[in-house]
Amino acid sequence: MSIENKLSEVRNNIISTAKSIGKSPDEIYLVCVTKEVSVFEINQILSLGIKDIGESRVGDALLKYREIDKKYDVKWHMIGHLQTNKVKDAVGIFNLIQSVDSLRLAYEIDKQALRINKIQDILIEVNTSGEDSKFGLKPNEVFEVAKEITKLRNINIKGLMTIAPFVDNPEKTRPYFRMLRQLRDRMNELRIMNYELRVLSMGMSNDYTIAIEEGSNMVRIGSAIFKR
Ligand SMILES: *Cc1c(COP(=O)(O)O)cnc(C)c1O
Repeated sequence: MSIENKLSEVRNNIISTAKSIGKSPDEIYLVCVTKEVSVFEINQILSLGIKDIGESRVGDALLKYREIDKKYDVKWHMIGHLQTNKVKDAVGIFNLIQSVDSLRLAYEIDKQALRINKIQDILIEVNTSGEDSKFGLKPNEVFEVAKEITKLRNINIKGLMTIAPFVDNPEKTRPYFRMLRQLRDRMNELRIMNYELRVLSMGMSNDYTIAIEEGSNMVRIGSAIFKR
């Protein structure tokens, strides 16, 4: 199948899943994860109307940022673990840093954002499964870290992000997505922030329909679109 056909399949699945839970498909952002693909393929999906690109390494993202066709208005998402020594470059190009997993990282983002007079949008990454191999805050650390981050002037928390365990049966990912939604809802109930957190970035190629059923409004999809 061509990239075009695979993209329409993903879009159709998003639409039908959203409708099945009574949600407008427009409320669900599709971030195309391009970490394994070339500038040529990125230009191709941009020509098909994609506006959000996800990359997991700052270096790769910088190269692609410079090389893609300038006629497209692209929003760049940082989805991989971010080291503090890469923050300066990251703040320079990313619209949304989805992988904030420590207060130390948040401080550095705030500092670098201040330098260029930017308010950097971020998501807090949560390790909902507790797997050692995954980055992200423990669920019970999130409230406190979020409260500290709100004191920083050049960072704006938009929501939460998680990566579900890789399992044979996507249905098994449901509890982790549900946990993230409940965490966000609880933060809103308790007014941890003085505004409402909205974004729930959850769901990848093999589990995005489950994630949408559990309240995701941002899915990050790579292989379902690009894998041959
Ligand atoms: C690679 C990656 C994705 C996309 O994964 P696919 O299974 O290829 O859709 C999404 N989120 C993160 C954080 C990733 O690293």
